[in-house]
Amino acid sequence: MEVRFWGVRGSVASSGSHVARIGGNTSCLEVESHGHRLILDAGTGLRQLGETLLPKQPIAATMLFSHLHWDHVQGFPFFTPAYLPSSQFVLYGPGADGEQQLRSVLARQMEPPNFPVPLSAMRAQLDFRSARPGAIIETGPFRITPVELPHPQGCIGYHIEADGRRFAYCTDVELTLEALDGRLGRILEGVDALVLDAQYTPDEYEGRVGPPKKGWGHSTMIEAARIAKATDAQRLFLFHHDPAHSDDQVETMAEAAKQVFPLAEPAREGKHITL
Ligand SMILES: [Zn+2]
Ligand SMILES: [Zn+2]
Repeated sequence: MEVRFWGVRGSVASSGSHVARIGGNTSCLEVESHGHRLILDAGTGLRQLGETLLPKQPIAATMLFSHLHWDHVQGFPFFTPAYLPSSQFVLYGPGADGEQQLRSVLARQMEPPNFPVPLSAMRAQLDFRSARPGAIIETGPFRITPVELPHPQGCIGYHIEADGRRFAYCTDVELTLEALDGRLGRILEGVDALVLDAQYTPDEYEGRVGPPKKGWGHSTMIEAARIAKATDAQRLFLFHHDPAHSDDQVETMAEAAKQVFPLAEPAREGKHITL
């Protein structure tokens, strides 16, 4: 299983030399195995992924959306492969009515006055479905378990198995080790790589620096590290970096996380791992 990080930033894209090492695009990951492709979230990182797929026509992928906050859908109108009639995408929206909600959100963000062309200008085959917590999705070599995460308006994490390896993508989740419920803890137990929300420092979260962030739906890098340690993850990628954090700040946060869980590292745009 190959995993590529195309967008690792949270909340809103960020650009400039101070974020160039970590990257400024919002959530988008690509997971590939035996020629089958998953795309996790459609943040602004999706645009560049789309450009790299163009030489590989006809293009097909299963797209799994964690939730529909804008930093997870904004890249979709700029996903060139979706404008090609030869492309085929299966798109999973989160929750029982995820199929309708996802279609509606993607259509609305392309309606006037937001965007020059409507969703119907995308000529690819778009097959919308719902990702229900606990309802396994099987596609190609992948066995995918959607799992509910605590976040305002809800969020879905995805546990992905293929080739005897296990990968978990849990962005946009406000968790502490103490609040980790047994079901989520069991699903994460011993994964080969864990991507986990680590947007804030404890000082930011508690309001010792700036406004308190409790209830904003994100975790600290320390809690991410504690959870990775408790669930015996093989690797932890700190994810959904705050748009206000420079490369130096993200790397300092990662050093603090490593004191708790030595296998922690910041997710970086352009990073590629083989599991
Ligand atoms: Zn987000
Ligand atoms: Zn969110």
